[in-house]
Amino acid sequence: MRKKDGHTHTIYSHHGSQEQLSAYLDRAIELGFDEYVVTEHAPLPAPFLLSFNQPEKARYDSALYDRELKDYQSLVEEAQAKYGQQIKIKRGFEVDYFADYEDEIQVFLEKEKGWWDEIVLSVHFLPDKKGDLAAIDYDAETFEQYFGPDLDQPQQLFARYFQAIEDSIRFADRLGIKVRVGHLTLIRIYQKRFDLPDFSPEVQAQIDRILALIKAGGHEIDYNAAGFRKKDNGESYPTAAIVQRAKRLGIPLVYGSDAHQVADLGLHYEEISENIMKNS
Ligand SMILES: [Zn+2]
Ligand SMILES: [Zn+2]
Repeated sequence: MRKKDGHTHTIYSHHGSQEQLSAYLDRAIELGFDEYVVTEHAPLPAPFLLSFNQPEKARYDSALYDRELKDYQSLVEEAQAKYGQQIKIKRGFEVDYFADYEDEIQVFLEKEKGWWDEIVLSVHFLPDKKGDLAAIDYDAETFEQYFGPDLDQPQQLFARYFQAIEDSIRFADRLGIKVRVGHLTLIRIYQKRFDLPDFSPEVQAQIDRILALIKAGGHEIDYNAAGFRKKDNGESYPTAAIVQRAKRLGIPLVYGSDAHQVADLGLHYEEISENIMKNS
């Protein structure tokens, strides 16, 4: 099996380390990776940036700024030229899905269509109970502040989150692009801290519909190691049970370190690749 990392970041995340892409690539080569997809957070939609304040800081340190886009693209192209003999580097973005900003996301994806090879499509922002968007994974305090009122009915929070995921896949289908669905169970990021329950049968049915959509659309799943690193989470995204169901459907699962620092590269690769290969 080719050793691939399908989800990695650079300095342009604004919330990771300042290590250079060359340092990530040296490490990936050392770890024996054959393929490496650079998937920086695509610029957030302009109207979102104008209004977002839950929390305000996340407006500035969640993604590439528009004015940095060219620099990011040059950085990846230069890495391809320099390291191309040693590792296959692919051009990518991690694109945020927002139901309210589909037009802006479409414009971005189509404008950059000739450039990118792979897209990780993710949901990091979800409406709170009042309907205002808030960051899911900024930190536990932010999660509690905006989603705390949901915690007495966590299945409803899960249902709202998976509805956004479902919408994101239907959106990709309408655009006719194949994506890798990012960290499918991110809503569980602080599950230990807030004692989140397992998914109810209704939510599981919703997840099964999502898996069927992923399969029908020819999409992939980001088998993301970052959840293992979060002490409040402690498991992969998606969860092991969802991985098993995805495998039964024959959905491709692609390891993603979601590295925001060089030291994240390759973490949990062995167990994830074993889970991908072993028969359920
Ligand atoms: Zn993400
Ligand atoms: Zn990411």
